[in-house]
Amino acid sequence: MDVAIIGAGIAGIAAAYYLSRSTGIGSITLIDRGQPMAFTSAQSGENYRNWWPHPTMTAFTDLSIDLMEELARESDDRFSMTRRGYALATRRGDIDDLMHALTVGYSDSERDLIRVHDQPGSRCYRRPLSADWRAAPEGVDVLQDPALIGESFPGFAGDIRTVIHIRRAGDVDSQQLGQLMLERAREKNMVRLTGEVISVEADPQGFSIEVSAADGKQTVQADVLVNAAGPFVGRVGKMIGYDLPVKNVRQQKVAFDDRAKTILRDMPFSIDLDPLTLDWNREEAALLLADPRTAWLAQPMPGAIHCKAEGGERGTWVKLGWAFTSEPSAPGWTPELDDTFPEVVLRGAARLHPALKSYYGRFPRPMSHYGGYYTMTEENWPIIGRAGPDGSYVVGALSGFGTMAACAAGYLLAQSITGGLLPSYAASLGLDRLAIPQLMKTLRAAAHTSVL
Ligand SMILES: Cc1cc2nc3c(=O)[nH]c(=O)nc-3n(C[C@H](O)[C@H](O)[C@H](O)COP(=O)(O)OP(=O)(O)OC[C@H]3O[C@@H](n4cnc5c(N)ncnc54)[C@H](O)[C@@H]3O)c2cc1C
Repeated sequence: MDVAIIGAGIAGIAAAYYLSRSTGIGSITLIDRGQPMAFTSAQSGENYRNWWPHPTMTAFTDLSIDLMEELARESDDRFSMTRRGYALATRRGDIDDLMHALTVGYSDSERDLIRVHDQPGSRCYRRPLSADWRAAPEGVDVLQDPALIGESFPGFAGDIRTVIHIRRAGDVDSQQLGQLMLERAREKNMVRLTGEVISVEADPQGFSIEVSAADGKQTVQADVLVNAAGPFVGRVGKMIGYDLPVKNVRQQKVAFDDRAKTILRDMPFSIDLDPLTLDWNREEAALLLADPRTAWLAQPMPGAIHCKAEGGERGTWVKLGWAFTSEPSAPGWTPELDDTFPEVVLRGAARLHPALKSYYGRFPRPMSHYGGYYTMTEENWPIIGRAGPDGSYVVGALSGFGTMAACAAGYLLAQSITGGLLPSYAASLGLDRLAIPQLMKTLRAAAHTSVL
């Protein structure tokens, strides 16, 4: 069976890699209009975690992390996987809702993975002293003892009452991960074709995929077609003859050289969970409020502001992100950036990391401001599996978790195509879940806690 994959982002590459290791596959043609890993996958914050408010997504990302560990071991850690965890900070002491979400998220585990440290002198919390993924503990530590929070997270603001430290979490060099899988697939039966897919015809014999390449039009024939077109997954789906329930939401990041050393280099990836009103002085706030286009910047905003010491102890850069919008936009090849974003995210992040205030009004240089799209379903779960005519598959809607989930997504897709064994949750990661109203209701209600 010959396979064509549209899209050489991390999803298409992982699909090609796991298909190249499967039996029964003839050729694999990986088609992209540009270079591999150059579109959304080039914008990733490269973070991963196994923390989700639903056990299916926990199992799915755990599988992906298992597969990344396997690749890290086999390649002598070529893509620099680290594991200092995710530190979720809140000013709330009463966190019943967060504890409930943790309990539900890890409910499929046979072990008790949640450890609460709320008494003075707790000795069993293991600080993330090493970035080595092999050395990190499992599970979650919930810190509520003020002294322990202060010692363990000395850069955090003094008003933090709870830190939830997710331990199976860290980051990877995703370009290297993509490159590794590409090289290995190419050694087997994969070829690349550079060009834009402009039409697809499906008939009982298979698919004719018309590609506009630099040297003219080409037609690729395939028995199986995988749509891994990232933000364009909906557009490519229409060419094949199906609609997907996805939207694209623009997201931005900013990274800068932290010359004033405001962020400790061994800090885990941090997320400030609490909603906030940005820290403007009275005149600044009045000016913003006077203009209807900027008034929202002086009004209450959602939480979930990210801060990361990029490159850990070896680096000097800091990366900030804040997925504060959920408004859909039409995807473009050059995502628009909002000029105010750097100062806005700096002020948002400074609430948890007060040392960042030294950069107010004089954003550090050099800096890099960039962005891309979260391509997502309403419930923020991926779409992996059959869609449209026989032989047609999709791997998409990977939202803000495509880097961490790519290996599992590619593996599960390859198993579906080749008729291999699948975990029981696999069906609910595809379009089949839309036919399960109770599941959809639960997922839509919980979706806001997973947009990270
Ligand atoms: C700012 C930002 C931060 C993020 N941070 C993280 C993070 O920390 N951790 C994490 O796990 N995830 C993160 N993500 C999400 C992750 O980057 C994405 O989910 C993932 O990269 C999506 O991969 P993809 O292969 O589906 O899409 P893409 O990388 O966009 O690949 C799709 C490819 O399809 C090609 N294509 C589309 N249409 C056609 C066509 N007609 N013909 C030919 N080629 C076509 C495109 O050129 C593109 O190369 C982040 C995303 C953004 C935007």
